[in-house]
Amino acid sequence: MTTQLQSYLRGRWFVGQRDAQWLRDATTGQVIAEVASSSTAFRGVLEYARETGGPALRAMTFHERAAMLKRLAKQLQERRDELYELSYSTGATKADSWLDIDGGIGTLFAYASRGVRELPNSRVYVDGDVERLSRAGGFVGQHICLPMEGAAVHINAFNFPVWGLLEKLSSSLLAGVPAIVKPATPTAYLAELAVRRIIESGVLPEGALQLACGSLGDLFDHLDCQDIVSFTGSAGTAQKLRAHPAIIRNSVRFIAETDSINTCLLGPDAAPGQPEFDAYVREVVREMTVKAGQKCTAIRKALVPAAYADAALEALQAGLQQIVVGDPRLERVRMGPLASLAQRREVLGRIAELRREAELVTGEPDLGELAGADRDSGAFLKPSLLYCREPGKARAIHAIEAFGPVCTLIPYASLPEAIALTRRGAGSLVSSVFTADDDVATELVLGMAPYHGRLLVVGRDCAQESTGHGSPMPGLVHGGPGRAGGGEELGGLRSVMHYLQRTAIQGSPQTIAAVSGRWVRGAKELDPGVHPFRKPFHELRIGDTFRSAEREVTSEDIERFAHLSGDTFYAHMDEAEAARNPLFGGRVAHGYFLISAAAGLFVNPSYGPVLGNYGLNDLRFVKPVKPGERIMVRLTCKQKSLRAEKGWGEVTWDTEISNQDAETVAAYDVLTMVSVHAVPDAESS
Ligand code: NDP
Repeated sequence: MTTQLQSYLRGRWFVGQRDAQWLRDATTGQVIAEVASSSTAFRGVLEYARETGGPALRAMTFHERAAMLKRLAKQLQERRDELYELSYSTGATKADSWLDIDGGIGTLFAYASRGVRELPNSRVYVDGDVERLSRAGGFVGQHICLPMEGAAVHINAFNFPVWGLLEKLSSSLLAGVPAIVKPATPTAYLAELAVRRIIESGVLPEGALQLACGSLGDLFDHLDCQDIVSFTGSAGTAQKLRAHPAIIRNSVRFIAETDSINTCLLGPDAAPGQPEFDAYVREVVREMTVKAGQKCTAIRKALVPAAYADAALEALQAGLQQIVVGDPRLERVRMGPLASLAQRREVLGRIAELRREAELVTGEPDLGELAGADRDSGAFLKPSLLYCREPGKARAIHAIEAFGPVCTLIPYASLPEAIALTRRGAGSLVSSVFTADDDVATELVLGMAPYHGRLLVVGRDCAQESTGHGSPMPGLVHGGPGRAGGGEELGGLRSVMHYLQRTAIQGSPQTIAAVSGRWVRGAKELDPGVHPFRKPFHELRIGDTFRSAEREVTSEDIERFAHLSGDTFYAHMDEAEAARNPLFGGRVAHGYFLISAAAGLFVNPSYGPVLGNYGLNDLRFVKPVKPGERIMVRLTCKQKSLRAEKGWGEVTWDTEISNQDAETVAAYDVLTMVSVHAVPDAESS
């Protein structure tokens, strides 16, 4: 029986009524699902996200939302077998599905972990340092970021129905913005199953995720300034959508990731027989055939030094001949069909355009043997390699993206020419360079970077460990300028920022501290009553301050520290030499001694809630200290971030060492882990 795909809108599942169409298995051509568009009023869908999902997500801290992503990833991990099973129908082999399904779940895990490590356990993200705006320091500025209060509309492409869904959700949910997801129709059945399992898991608050199969109806008409659109697909659709009057009128954020002509370039040093040559050939073959070349990051232009063109052609043909094409369910099959017959027709049309200026060396129309599949019912296409002798005069090879197993080999004569050829793509997602020569790498990277979102440089030293040309990484940006859409996804917190509004707040240090939840120099120093190291996490208040007694720094201290540490730098040891130094004009204490002495001044030594010191941030030595001078230290609780699951929280202490004239000697943040539990017999000191 054919499955009728459902949308999940305003808290319930239902089957659409308009424009029904059948979706077919890419290999057998059998109808596996029917999808129809909903005739619902999309204004209500947006309102449901804004009024139900948004408030529930914003009530959580960044850490709570990160924990939610982790639970979601675990739930999906347990259900991945059925996703893998259904994924075969899209034409994906098991290895292809691993990129889509495990790649998507892995992205959720990655954002869950970044959310805890890099965002505070609060609802406000404090961006950057305080800006001093007045001479006396009584008026300052601080950027803070809060979640946008609208909906994130995610429009996904057909080629990665699960990864596309989860990578976009990772950023928007972590930011605290509810999503309305529209999957691409040809593979909507797989996205629908993933969303169904997410909703059933109960991990997300109601309204945090809605699914619209089929069309988005009048949704765009109702977008406002708090909504965000994130689109993946063709440049043509992106152009049409970003020109929608509501997007223009309301300055709706529009993130696009579109077609891209990506290059893989062999360096002049990488002659046949060199490891880089072999790695290059493997990479081009892999990128042509993984997901049957239906990847926005796939290699479309393979550039080689003209002298190696024949050898490269031969090696690539030999590599492609090894690729078994057929039913993706069979283990020996390395490449399945395209997602649909319509997609194959489109790719064939584009190959025909490319052939006007490049000769087809291998591939279409020769389908040859198919493993376990029927050539008439499946959307099969053999990998097609073209060769373009005059790339400078050509147009199509730089402009036409045949979204299938299609690549053009291109000879180049010099590095400047190679750079110019990559730039003809008018903005690309990713290109790669295979070279062992760092001068070549530098020239190419500096020449290509302004036209690319990501560049991969592979030599013999890293070929084994390389994550590959085609794989976007959660911590690195995925997107590119110009034709590639001009957007950025992933890139760690960078993508989360798309869903937050950054606002500059100006006021007194005290007000800024209250609003941001982070103590600022000049704000009130609170008397903790006891040494702050005696206070468990929850009792510590932002602003709790400890001021130490004074300590004299003697020549003997300097001598002893020098011999203990082995740091006998002349500025600490030799008065005459140190006097010649224009910064010091005489012997000075080691900066690291001052840090150690400061710890000796501020620490409370008894067993207590402070579990450990895990680092220092932003250390600056401001003024040297000479023997005979006196130092003291101020320690103020600056920021707190609870790690509830661990039973402790991170506490950042604003720390300032000053001298007998109240001049700042050094300033830094001390990072500690503080238990949530009081120590029963702890004595105040
Ligand atoms: P489209 O641009 O047609 O579709 C991409 C997404 O946009 C789909 O979800 C589609 O839904 C949706 N969409 C289309 N029209 C509208 C609209 N008016 N309003 C709202 N949403 C809309 O790309 P295709 O998937 O058809 O692929 C075509 C070509 O795009 C490929 O051959 C390839 O060249 C390129 N592409 C690039 C990708 C990339 O990652 N850079 C990924 C996929 C494709 P629906 O499916 O229901 O039409």
